[in-house]
Amino acid sequence: MLNKDFAICVQASDFSETSQVLTFFGKQSGKLRCIAKGTKRQKSSFDGPVEIFAYGDIVFASTGEDKLSTLTEFQQKKPLAGLAANLTTLHCAMFTAELLNKFTKDYDPHPQLFDSFLQFLQDINHLQNNKYAPLPLLILFQLSLLKEIGIQPVLNHCVNCKTRDAIRDTQYEVYFSSQANGLVCRDCEAAFPDKVKLSAGSVKCLTSLKLIAGADEKTLKEIEKVLIYHFTGLLGRPPKMAGYILKSQGR
Ligand SMILES: [Zn+2]
Repeated sequence: MLNKDFAICVQASDFSETSQVLTFFGKQSGKLRCIAKGTKRQKSSFDGPVEIFAYGDIVFASTGEDKLSTLTEFQQKKPLAGLAANLTTLHCAMFTAELLNKFTKDYDPHPQLFDSFLQFLQDINHLQNNKYAPLPLLILFQLSLLKEIGIQPVLNHCVNCKTRDAIRDTQYEVYFSSQANGLVCRDCEAAFPDKVKLSAGSVKCLTSLKLIAGADEKTLKEIEKVLIYHFTGLLGRPPKMAGYILKSQGR
């Protein structure tokens, strides 16, 4: 059966001299893996090998959910050339592709997440060369990913006792626990050994996400570190790209 979709390539690897195995994130289909025969041939209906973050209209033949589909057409949009122009941007894009790969299932559609992923890639594609510039976008994308896959962290009250005041009032210490999946107040923190303490600036941003766009570098770095710690907790090990992100932010 031939299927059409609008999709972004999130993983590309060589399969043979002439073919590739590609993972696409499709707006209607969700994540799908397919074999693209002949993409590496000089003359093929594809315009050469498909690269990660190439996106456009795909046509693929599926033969069952557990098998590789066959890519038959790929009409690419203008490449996001800015992604590879600076290493930090590229690392951020690759990190989000890895998270999408790990946290979504094959053929499980997330059209909203698709839209925010494409928007994220297009936004960071236009950024000037500044290692902190992608951070607010990266943080917001990671939070929307968690929301879309149904594990949105609790950020508006203590996840344990539900208090709002002790989270909102900057005079109290606030923590984040990956195990509890959210913010934990000073009265409850002892019950969550995995918790990390947050600065007042980070708490403000996490309880009011619109502040993230204007947050200072130190706060953004701290929030990103907390998110990586959270993804590490969820996966049981650090994401492969986590080290690059932490390194580019100077740890
Ligand atoms: Zn509490």
